[in-house]
Amino acid sequence: MGTRQGHLSRRQLLSSAALAPTGALLTGCRVGVAPAEAHSSTREVTAVIDAQPTIEGAGVHLRRSIGSSALPGLDPFLLLDEFHSKDPADYAAGFPSHPHRGFETVTYMLEGAMEHRDSLGNHGHLGPGSAQWMTAGHGIIHSEMPKQEQGLMWGFQLWVNLPAARKLARPRYQDLPPERITEVTAEGAHVRLVAGELGDKRGPVDGIATAPTMLDVDLAARERFTHAIPAAHNAFVYVVQGAAEIGSARRPVHAGQLSVLGPGELAAVRTADGARFLLVAAIPIGEPVARYGPFVMNTDEEIRQAIADYRSGRLTEG
Ligand code: MN
Repeated sequence: MGTRQGHLSRRQLLSSAALAPTGALLTGCRVGVAPAEAHSSTREVTAVIDAQPTIEGAGVHLRRSIGSSALPGLDPFLLLDEFHSKDPADYAAGFPSHPHRGFETVTYMLEGAMEHRDSLGNHGHLGPGSAQWMTAGHGIIHSEMPKQEQGLMWGFQLWVNLPAARKLARPRYQDLPPERITEVTAEGAHVRLVAGELGDKRGPVDGIATAPTMLDVDLAARERFTHAIPAAHNAFVYVVQGAAEIGSARRPVHAGQLSVLGPGELAAVRTADGARFLLVAAIPIGEPVARYGPFVMNTDEEIRQAIADYRSGRLTEG
């Protein structure tokens, strides 16, 4: 997904070049916390973003949080799109053949079915509850098309950057049918663990440069969920359904909103009436970002090379 970003202006592209580390988002946003409730290392919310209606691919209607004007990036995350519609007109056009180089795309399906095909001959079916972690590396050309003509299509695509040393690596797919995703019930929560650790359990995704955590948490009413995240990682919570209160300050966040978590070691989420949310974290890369549509490199020269390689048919040659 993401072909239309190629139409962004040069200025817009360069404005995403310096993705703010979490600390930069904190300026002036320190939340007052009652001492009795404070946990010294709880991560407080530093920004809340409403996902913004966006049209992508061949005309897919979705909602973008990371990668929108409100939050161009959250190192190493480049984009987060939610697609959620029962109307085929919103999704039927899909994402026909398009390239990627220099980063990873993560597709996570809640409902509906997508079919993935690429120029290397890989072919996969993404059904409800499945995930695909694709490391594009030096280049893939693929299509992501709905495998249904009606009914609910609901899912996410997250883009995760790669460090310079891995941008031209061999492409890799981690296709995860629902039964391969680790499920854990704890603290009044049912958790689907795509990546990272929870207690003595591990998610199935491995070998990713930024050591990501990705949890899909279904939290029952009046429950509280906490999860340790290494202090060096950037983290966010995206509310999928219901409403949650985040951090010691209990910042309210509802479905369709993303909250950026500030420094600390513990993510803490409460809910009054129940909430489903994604908790995602990873190590920031801290390198320059040159971004042009489906190519994410470190320099403009590398972007020009990616475009030239795509035009000459060499994008996918290792
Ligand atoms: Mn794609």
